[in-house]
Amino acid sequence: MATNHDRSDSRLSRRSLLAGAGLAAAAATIPAEAHAAPARAWDQMADIVCVGSGAAACSAAVTAAAAGAKVIVIEKMPFLGGTTGKSGGVVWICNHFGLRAQGIRDEKADAMAYMCRFSFPQVYDPTSPTLGLTEADYRLIEAFYDHGHEAIDHLQAVDAARFKQFRLWGVDEPAPDYADHLPENKVPTGRALEPATGAGGQGGGSLAMQLTDWLERHKVPILTETRVTRLVMDGGRAVGVEAEANGKTIRIGARKAVIFGTGGYAHNLDLVGLHQTALYGSCAMPGSTGDFISIAGAAGAAMGTLDGAWRTQVLFEEALENRELGVCAFFLPGDSMLLLNKYGRRVVNEKRCYNDRTRVHFAYDPVRDEYPNQLLFMLFDQRSL
Ligand SMILES: Cc1cc2nc3c(=O)[nH]c(=O)nc-3n(C[C@H](O)[C@H](O)[C@H](O)COP(=O)(O)OP(=O)(O)OC[C@H]3O[C@@H](n4cnc5c(N)ncnc54)[C@H](O)[C@@H]3O)c2cc1C
Repeated sequence: MATNHDRSDSRLSRRSLLAGAGLAAAAATIPAEAHAAPARAWDQMADIVCVGSGAAACSAAVTAAAAGAKVIVIEKMPFLGGTTGKSGGVVWICNHFGLRAQGIRDEKADAMAYMCRFSFPQVYDPTSPTLGLTEADYRLIEAFYDHGHEAIDHLQAVDAARFKQFRLWGVDEPAPDYADHLPENKVPTGRALEPATGAGGQGGGSLAMQLTDWLERHKVPILTETRVTRLVMDGGRAVGVEAEANGKTIRIGARKAVIFGTGGYAHNLDLVGLHQTALYGSCAMPGSTGDFISIAGAAGAAMGTLDGAWRTQVLFEEALENRELGVCAFFLPGDSMLLLNKYGRRVVNEKRCYNDRTRVHFAYDPVRDEYPNQLLFMLFDQRSL
């Protein structure tokens, strides 16, 4: 979340958040009144306070610091990187440097049709100026098309992160999109980027480490084991945060903006119970407890789509033992493996991408009054085992 004292800061933070394309970043607006600024002096002061140390907060911090702002990064865990650090680190970006260099034209009208059709199939209308979406939803996707590649270019230009075209399992072809079969998709392979091997090995570990290394090299203070608990407001503006560190409350002032990149809420059972159906576990990092939701709510921000998620299937037995999973069932191997529901019916294409596959679990049978696909069973032969 960014609040701005001038237009250029608001643009800066929006672009920074977009650098974490496909990642969970949050934006909200703040009404005119909220908590008063503290009478007590600030313990520390910066232009921009970035909360979290995953791709969202760190790309915002890099962008702000590279533009000359004094930045402080605050992370509640003893280690940096969040869920980003254990992710695949694959970033899906339209019209990026690699496509342009290959002469592949990722035209805006085509890419918008594809993204709007895939994201909002229930309202998609190719004849409408906003393709059937609300103005706000359309503009958000448009900003992603317009600025996603700029954000990647900028991270590379300031030497904060390097990317290359993603190749799945070492296959010598750029990876296909998850919905490469949709007719609206005119660039079915090559949009996905991955961190070029650098510090921290591969994938999200490399991305997180490249960004945090850059911040350390540029002497941006990073406070770990410091949990932000509250926004400090003054006349409708976020002017700082309160945080807990070593059992004490500290206050950190922000002359220009506070940016939250604090991840999701998969490990907050109250929020899971409130917003999700049949979520048995998650391989997100333990810091994913949705702190931003209560912090932003207390400051009066309206939140939306909290029931949304990027999901994957989990092995039920494993999740019952420990809902903080090391890894989930992203790609199901074996050409002779079937996914069956409790009636032994095959209800999903096992080769579809993990997020799309999970949607079939929520189908309700109005005659039997039950969710017949709530659990699916893997049936496979000895060779696949
Ligand atoms: C195994 C796996 C593979 C994945 N692969 C991909 C992929 O290839 N591509 C893709 O796009 N997505 C992938 N994802 C999803 C992706 O990892 C996340 O969406 C993304 O990393 C979220 O980034 P973030 O910066 O928003 O949050 P995070 O990386 O989770 O960072 C949030 C940070 O904020 C900190 N924090 C939280 N609350 C506070 C607080 N109150 N005060 C201070 N700090 C706080 C947390 O401790 C954490 O370090 C994958 C996820 C998993 C689990």
